[in-house]
Order: sequence, then structure tokens, then C-alpha cells
Amino acid sequence: MKIAIYPGSFDPVTSGHLNIIRRAASIFDKLIICVMVNAGKSPMFTLDERVELIRRVTEDIPNVEVDSSNELLADYARRKGSCVIVKGLRAGSDFENEFQMALINRKINPELDTMFLTSEHQYMYLSSSAVKELGRYNVDLSDFLPEQIIPDFQKRINTIRQGGNP
Ligand code: ADP
Repeated sequence: MKIAIYPGSFDPVTSGHLNIIRRAASIFDKLIICVMVNAGKSPMFTLDERVELIRRVTEDIPNVEVDSSNELLADYARRKGSCVIVKGLRAGSDFENEFQMALINRKINPELDTMFLTSEHQYMYLSSSAVKELGRYNVDLSDFLPEQIIPDFQKRINTIRQGGNP
């Protein structure tokens, strides 16, 4: 069984992520989406909330599993019996970082390969941080976020706007 892992912060999951998820799920027998703890970022949604939002938007894809981890990705992949990491590649900016990460992961776990799926053109410039920025200005988010999570996102933006904790 070919198992791939799609790691990221998914804060929150965007339509660009979902496009990569659908395409990767059609290539592999099983796709594990893993929300990774990133000590450098202070997230808008907790780890558990991000997992729940992804589960909600992927419930129609039977071979997708959603998980979270604070492990090293190469160790996590080994533990899950996976030798492929899936990454989405957007315009320009992703390349240097992703190339470096792929080489490092392979150095730590030589059986691990990274497969890149190029972003669909309409999502090329879409990132979770761009959506968070747009959210502050009452922009229609339906081209950027899966519709099932837009109310959750707007509610969180409003809480933050009113000075509450996310
Ligand atoms: P971001 O916070 O920048 O959206 P994540 O860490 O959540 O990034 O992204 C996880 C993975 O999804 C990365 O491989 C990233 O390149 C990819 N990705 C993010 N947004 C898109 C998009 N719009 N199109 C294709 N891939 C994407």
C-alpha cells in the first residue's frame, strides 16, 4: 500500500491545500495529512482545531487520514511506514525552502522521497497568511477558503478584532 504524507501548518486549510489534497489522494492508496507543530509561528487555530477543520473539508475523500505531530517529519514518516512526502509548489518563493527541506529529510531518512505537485494557477499566490490578512478587510473569501470553514474563520477573526484571545 502506497502511503504519502502531506505535512504543513494549515492555519487554516485553504482551497490551495485542498486542491493538493484531492490530487495527491487520487495518486496514493492513502494520504495522511499531518498538521505539524511549528514553534516559530503563533497560530490562529490550535492544533486540534486545525485537525478538525481539515477533517471537515476532506470527509468526502475516503483515503484521507488527518493527524498531528510534533515529531521530526522524517521520523514521523518512518513510523507511519511512508516513504513519500507530498508538497505543493507555488510560484517562486517555495522552491528554495522546499528543495532544502527535501534534501535534509532524505539525509535523515534515506528511504524518504519528496514529491512536488505544482499549484493550480488560481491558487498560485494563495497562502494561509494571505487569507488571514484579507480576513481583516471583509473581503469575500469564497475563492480562497473551503466554504465549510468560512464561518469558523470569520468568527475567529472577529474574536481577534475585539481583542480576545484566539
Ligand atoms: P502556508 O501557511 O504558506 O499556506 P503550509 O505550511 O500550511 O503553508 O503549507 C503546507 C504545504 O502546502 C506546503 O507544501 C505548501 O507549499 C503547500 N501549499 C500551501 N498553499 C498552497 C497553494 N495555494 N497551492 C499549492 N500548494 C500550497
